Amino acid sequence: MGEYVSKIAVIRALLKDFKDERHTWYSASYAIDIMAKIVDEMPSAEVRPVVHGRWEYHPEGDACCSECGWPTPWLYISNYCGHCGAEMEGLDV
Ligand SMILES: [Zn+2]
Repeated sequence: MGEYVSKIAVIRALLKDFKDERHTWYSASYAIDIMAKIVDEMPSAEVRPVVHGRWEYHPEGDACCSECGWPTPWLYISNYCGHCGAEMEGLDV
């Protein structure tokens, strides 16, 4: 799993540092090294891609997840699949 940072946090951190006139003499190569260091030192978060699914009709009468096919009794369907974690956006019956 990769490390992720906020785009706006990166922009703000770079602008904060590079608006300073003491950096105007930097070569492009050195500036890139400084920017890489700034981004590397930023706090990051572990994130997972959000999988979206739908509850579908299962041939045996239950609902099933469109993403993993896991059958679930209609009584227990919820906003997410308890097997794969997909966020459910509705019903396809
Ligand atoms: Zn699922």
